[in-house]
Amino acid sequence: MTEVTLDNITKRFGSETAIEDVSLTVRDGEVLSIVGPSGCGKSTTLRTVAGFETPTEGRIMFDETDVTDVRAENRNVGLVFQDYALFMNMSVMENATFGPRMKGVPKEEREAKAMELLELVGIEELADRDPASLSGGQQQRVALVRALAVEPEILLLDEPMTGLDAKLKKRLRREIGQLLTDIGVTTLYVTHDQTQAMAMADRVAVLNDGRIEQIGTPETVYEQPANPFVANFIGTSNLLPATANGEAVDLGFATVEVDELPTTDGDVTVVTRPDDFTLNGGPIQADVLDTFYIGGTVQMIVELPDGNQISLNVNPKQSDVTGVGPGDQVGLSLDASNVHVVS
Ligand code: ATP
Repeated sequence: MTEVTLDNITKRFGSETAIEDVSLTVRDGEVLSIVGPSGCGKSTTLRTVAGFETPTEGRIMFDETDVTDVRAENRNVGLVFQDYALFMNMSVMENATFGPRMKGVPKEEREAKAMELLELVGIEELADRDPASLSGGQQQRVALVRALAVEPEILLLDEPMTGLDAKLKKRLRREIGQLLTDIGVTTLYVTHDQTQAMAMADRVAVLNDGRIEQIGTPETVYEQPANPFVANFIGTSNLLPATANGEAVDLGFATVEVDELPTTDGDVTVVTRPDDFTLNGGPIQADVLDTFYIGGTVQMIVELPDGNQISLNVNPKQSDVTGVGPGDQVGLSLDASNVHVVS
């Protein structure tokens, strides 16, 4: 297994800076997700690790070895990209054994290994099929098997579940997540889908406009977002203006104690999550603007007396929301334990 280090990587295409001063380490056997909006530099980061792009500045290290100038084919990485790019003129087994065949691994050995991996992802019965006859999810698994068959030091996944339906994504997320943990291969996983990233990764790196905003466990980036960008990108946030005041922050409708107090008194922004509010006739008066039933939860958009809008999740089993709709006034309380100052 291998630790991957990006050491102050900048990549420019002409006057366009795709990534700037990106430093991160993917630890031995770790799954690290890179998330961020379209065009923020996720693929460029991955392509630089793969060796398809040479950084304008900085170094890429695999353990203690500087691979910045090592050609892609000489880096022992497995790749799974968005479009799978399976060889359509070869069977599933031929796809799965392609890499080892190129390396001169004997037929029996490479087929046994491929079969083991096909079994692991639950598609061993498809070994003789044409990729064109498989569903998207099955093709995706073949692509993963093909990448793993060469026993890569590092696995690079770029939006591998694009185009799959939500249910299948959820299943594959669980299965592939488990598989990566079992195999223990160091993995860099690129996606714009933060739910996917949170579910599969040991740590998440949030990228914005070519720069890293925060790296941490899924819990950390959700519960302690480093700034408003991360708070907004990871999960649903209610960013609210407040005044820091000695030991606490004053939100206007409530004063709450926070774990990390801002260093100076004055204007701050706090993040609250939709689950931090409870509709229970509490002291915070709010006007209902909209309600959406999203399966087991009612999402409600309300306006606070100071004009700020927040989103809250109501469990209809705990709070009676029958007949509550736009124009109604409701009383809320805020669980201050998760309130976090972001700027
Ligand atoms: P998406 O989620 O849309 O795939 P991304 O986060 O993967 O986006 P990149 O593909 O890494 O983003 O692109 C980052 C920036 O670098 C973009 O502004 C893009 O236009 C630019 N870029 C990427 N590759 C090239 C290239 N070969 N030539 C010029 N500009 C490029």
